[in-house]
Amino acid sequence: MSMKELPTIAQLWFDLDTGAAKAADVIALIRENVALYEKDINAYINLYLDEAEELARSQDSTRYPAGKTPDLAGIPIAIKDNICVKGKPCTCASNILKGFVAPYDATVIERLNARGAILVGKTNLDEFAMGASTETSAFGPVRNPLDPERVPGGSSGGSAAAVRYGGAVAALGSDTGGSVRQPAAFSGLVGFRPSYGRVSRWGLVAFASSLDQIGPITRTVEDAALIYSVIAGPDPRDSTTYPQEPEEMDLTGELKRGVKVGIIKEFFAELADERISEAVQTPFKEAGIDLIEVSMPEVRYSISGYYLLAFSEVSSNLARYDGIRYGLRVSKLGLRETYSASRAQGFGEEIKRRILMGTFGLSAGYIDAYYNTALRYRAALAKAYEKAFSQVDFLLSPTAPTVAYKLGEKIHDPLEMYLGDIYTASNALAALPCISIPAPRKVDGLPVGIQLTASRYQDAKLLEFAHAVERI
Ligand code: GLN
Repeated sequence: MSMKELPTIAQLWFDLDTGAAKAADVIALIRENVALYEKDINAYINLYLDEAEELARSQDSTRYPAGKTPDLAGIPIAIKDNICVKGKPCTCASNILKGFVAPYDATVIERLNARGAILVGKTNLDEFAMGASTETSAFGPVRNPLDPERVPGGSSGGSAAAVRYGGAVAALGSDTGGSVRQPAAFSGLVGFRPSYGRVSRWGLVAFASSLDQIGPITRTVEDAALIYSVIAGPDPRDSTTYPQEPEEMDLTGELKRGVKVGIIKEFFAELADERISEAVQTPFKEAGIDLIEVSMPEVRYSISGYYLLAFSEVSSNLARYDGIRYGLRVSKLGLRETYSASRAQGFGEEIKRRILMGTFGLSAGYIDAYYNTALRYRAALAKAYEKAFSQVDFLLSPTAPTVAYKLGEKIHDPLEMYLGDIYTASNALAALPCISIPAPRKVDGLPVGIQLTASRYQDAKLLEFAHAVERI
């Protein structure tokens, strides 16, 4: 038996609409793929296939008036397990949330449900989305379906692996400094991080609130655009959302003449793997698009800037897991002792490292040297990007400096792991929309991600361009 190829959202929507396919049959295919791969790949923390099948049957028997079928009616979607779904556990792949059941739906879930999407299950992730390989999960690591010896990327590795092996048609992930884009790149998929504020964070468990964004992992740019247009838009429950609905998109796939694509000099000059650089640039050159070099020395500090800010926000956001309010409690005689025992047992090593470093960086004696300096750096970086976008329409880079690596290869060296975020941290810090699409050429037989970044709130333009690039 081998993997049952699933249709894209766009194909499936059409086939369901015309009656050429049944949603319940797609769930049956997913069941077969899950039976075949899930044990080895470990993409899901919880699966809801029976409920999904029931919902699929009810979608199949609903007759929508002509032209009125909801955008995602009958489409099976997987959700990263740091996004709340009412009545279901939300584990964040952490022991500290053991037994916690989400009392409400995240805004993105409300919106997917309202358009008829079918929830397949909650996917595995790095604990609290902190990581880049999905090896820090309390539920065990996820493996890459393309080569089970390798990581699927992270932290949304479960979402990427589920889509890759046909365990869902599409998935939602969250991206703080690359967690949607990099696993998509390692899996030969599309991963889109919307501009900060485009998608509501209500019901997304906070990691670093000033950076977190929810985004789709899909097989095509068109599918990413479809999900984005459903989940994006203002939300009174998240005051950081942008007040406008997403723009209409023109997904004709045509490359506009005269489009200006830039490459950040420092990114390519310091890229160790020449083959990745080539895999990323060649399609543009072949399509006759000149790549304009822009210099942005600021990006050299993006890893330090990103981690200083992310750690600080972690130290604050994760203070709520005290053994009293949610999930796990390790009872001791005193209150402080209970806090401390619950946190000691509930959190994994990477989380503890981040809480400690973040708390240090925010402490009275060091806040100016670390947190405040990082904030100033962030502002300077955003300005540098703004300047770059006065010269070019889009910026091109690899999504990651390597292809998918072996399990266990980097996890023991946090710094090495953090350096893998070199291309995905700076645009996240600058709140920009960015997307990873698979390059036509592989390296060592493994997929390479092409990353495109646009200026803030130009999400629609970015998706249109990426859709055209995908067809080169
Ligand atoms: N790898 C980065 C980190 O560990 C990004 C994670 C993410 O985007 N959630 O912080």
